Amino acid sequence: MSLTLFNDLTRKKEVFTPIKPGQVSFYSCGPTVYDYFHIGNARPFIVFDVLRRWLEHEGYKVTFVQNFTDIDDKMIHRANKENITVKELADKFIAEYNKDADALGIRRPDVSPRATEHIPEIIHTIERIIANGHAYVVDGDVYFDIKSWPKYGSLCKQNLEDLEAGARVEPGEKKKDPLDFVLWKSEKPGEPSWESPWGKGRPGWHIECSAMSSKYLGDNIDIHSGGIDLIFPHHENEAAQSEAASNSGKPFVNYWLHNGFLLIDDMKMSKSLGNFKTARSALRQFPPLAIRFFMLSAHYRSPINFSPESLSQAVAGVERLRNCKADLDFAAKTRVNDNANFGINKFKAELKELDKNFSDAMNDDFNTAAAIGILFDVVYLINTSLKENEFLPSEFFMLAKKALDDYDKILGVIGRDDAETEHDDISAEIEKLIAERNEARKAKDFKRSDEIRDTLKVRGIVLEDTPQGTKWKREL
Ligand code: AMP
Ligand code: ZN
Repeated sequence: MSLTLFNDLTRKKEVFTPIKPGQVSFYSCGPTVYDYFHIGNARPFIVFDVLRRWLEHEGYKVTFVQNFTDIDDKMIHRANKENITVKELADKFIAEYNKDADALGIRRPDVSPRATEHIPEIIHTIERIIANGHAYVVDGDVYFDIKSWPKYGSLCKQNLEDLEAGARVEPGEKKKDPLDFVLWKSEKPGEPSWESPWGKGRPGWHIECSAMSSKYLGDNIDIHSGGIDLIFPHHENEAAQSEAASNSGKPFVNYWLHNGFLLIDDMKMSKSLGNFKTARSALRQFPPLAIRFFMLSAHYRSPINFSPESLSQAVAGVERLRNCKADLDFAAKTRVNDNANFGINKFKAELKELDKNFSDAMNDDFNTAAAIGILFDVVYLINTSLKENEFLPSEFFMLAKKALDDYDKILGVIGRDDAETEHDDISAEIEKLIAERNEARKAKDFKRSDEIRDTLKVRGIVLEDTPQGTKWKREL
C-alpha cells in the first residue's frame, strides 16, 4: 500500500507523490517564542515529527523546516512587560522550546529559521508580490490585495463574501478591502524595526513563512503542516503570498496537513482561554513517553482530550510496552538455547504479517492510533512466546528486539533503558552536563548548577548526589 495523506486542499486522502522522486520538502509552522509552549502546541510538533520519521523510514530524503516566530505583537508586549529586548525574549524561549522538545523526543528540524534573521528575504518576497501586481503600499504599510487574487479562499473553502463578513479593519489600518492583510507594518514607537524600501517597519505575521519556506525549500513544496486553526487566515494567506510572489502558476504546497485540537474539558487548549498546561509542567507530572503515547494514541486529525484519566491510560500503555522489552532483555540473558523446540518460522511469519499491518496503518494517513494497536499485537506475540517456552533460540530474541526497536524509532513510546543509554551519545551528553554542574557548584555558581539540574529533570533524568559522586537515573 502506498502512502496516502489527507490533503486539506482537496479534502481527500491522496496518494503521496513527491515533486522530486525520493525527496520530500516539508515545512511546519513552529512556535511563537514569547512563552513556554503548551501541551496543545506540542501536538503538531510530535505528530509531524512522526510523519517525518515515517517518510525517512520509507526511504525518502526529507528536508524538514520549522520556523520560530520571533517578532509579532505578543513578542513585543511580553518583552516590554519583562523589560527586556524582543531578541532576549526570543533567545530565552527558543532555548526553553528546545529543552521541552528534546525531552518529548521531538527530533530537531533540519532548519529552524527565525523571522528576524530573514528580513532581506521577507522584503524580497514582498517586492516580488508588489511587482506582480498583488500588493500595494499606503503610508509605509504594505497590504496584500485580495481582489487581485481570485483563488483566495480555496484552502479554507469559503467564499469571499463570507470571509469579508468576518473581517475587521483595525484602527489606523488604511486598507482597500477588509480582507486585505498586512505584509509590512510601518514603524511604531517602542517597537523593533528594520529598514525597507517602504520606510522603517517590521514584517506582518504570515509573510515570514512564505519567505523562509521559499528560501530553504523552493517555491513549490511537498508538505506544509500545522494545527487546524492555522488554515485560516495563516495558511490561506501564506498560499496567496507565495503563489503571488512566484507567479509560476504552480501551487505553493502540494499537500496541506492539519492536526486537530487538543482539548481540555472539551474546549480547545489555548493561551487566550487561559485553560492551558505548559509542556514543561506536563513533563513534571507525567513521563515524556506517556505524553507521546497519549498524543499518538489518537488519529492526528481527530480532537483529543487531555485529562488525568487519558494520561494514566497512557502511563499504563507505556508500562506494558516497557515490561515486554525488559522481560525480553532478561530472558535473553538466561533462556537462550539454539536447540530449543520453538517454531521460529511461524514466529517469523507472524511478525512479517504484523509488520505489513503496521506499514498499512502508517501509510493510511499516518494512522498512529492503529499503529500503536499493532505494536500491542507484537507485544502480545512476544509475551506469549516467552510464556509458553522455557527456552528460545537466539534468533527469536534478535528478531523480537529488532521489531520493538524498529517500531520505536518511528513512534518513540518505548524508550531505551539505562543500561543501553550508558553507551550512547545521550549518556555522554548527560555526563558532560553533570561535570559542568560539579564545576559550577565548586565555583558556587548555584544559579547555573540548578539550571543544569532543571534541564536534566525536564528530560526525565534525575540526579542523586552521593559521597561517591553524582549518579543519574531515568524516570520511566
Ligand atoms: P502558536 O505558537 O500559537 O503559533 O502555535 C504553534 C502550533 O500549535 C500551531 O501549529 C497551532 O496550530 C498549534 N496549536 C495551538 N493550539 C493547539 C491545540 N489546542 N491543539 C492542537 N494544536 C494547537
Ligand atoms: Zn506559518
